[in-house]
Amino acid sequence: MNMYQFYQDAYQTVLDTSVVSLTEQRLILADTIFYPHGGGQPGDTGALLVDGRRIDILDTRYNQDRSQIEHHLAEPLTLEPGTQVSLQLDWDRRYRLMRMHTCLHLLCHLIKDPVTGGNVGEQQSRAEFDLTEPLDKRVLEQQLNDLIAQGAEVSTEWLPESVLDEQPDLVRTMSVQPPRGQGSIRMVRIARNDYLLDYQPCGGTHLRNIAEVGQVRVPSIKSKGKQNKRINIELVD
Ligand SMILES: [Zn+2]
Repeated sequence: MNMYQFYQDAYQTVLDTSVVSLTEQRLILADTIFYPHGGGQPGDTGALLVDGRRIDILDTRYNQDRSQIEHHLAEPLTLEPGTQVSLQLDWDRRYRLMRMHTCLHLLCHLIKDPVTGGNVGEQQSRAEFDLTEPLDKRVLEQQLNDLIAQGAEVSTEWLPESVLDEQPDLVRTMSVQPPRGQGSIRMVRIARNDYLLDYQPCGGTHLRNIAEVGQVRVPSIKSKGKQNKRINIELVD
């Protein structure tokens, strides 16, 4: 498991690192603070700083076999392996994504029914559940905002992958199984003192405290099937 810097500190906005390879505007670096598209969260954007130049990074994604993270450069460039470079994250965008992403975990706390999907966006995010009971969007919005206002710490830990065989119900999402075969799995814990709100495998970037989500809106709950409902979430500011 490569312990990229975005796993260690989701709040780091700049990083000095070095080039591993660059082919067809796809740049692989020794380390990165850029989150690669996955688990319903979009890839990070920002800039590469090298030799006094600034080149936009338009997207970040895993390569085909998920062994490397590729930064998609906005323009062609020649860089030798080992070249020292700096990364600069588009923090405003990422922070909104972190607020959205962390809020989706809170939905998993409030709704115990099976999660069937989810997607994090800058303007709107969504989570889908197979609901056993009807859900009122205004009630849910109030519950979410009350929860956020009370605050709770978010922390992560790495556990051996075998924990998922022993406790398969740790995985809340039916559609997104955590990647296996790398030996360890990243668990995200949201807790207020001893009160556990959410605990599930997740490789995404999260806030330190859920209070940072701020006020949210639930503009709609849409029916996607007999039981399946899509809950849309927006940040108020
Ligand atoms: Zn997460």
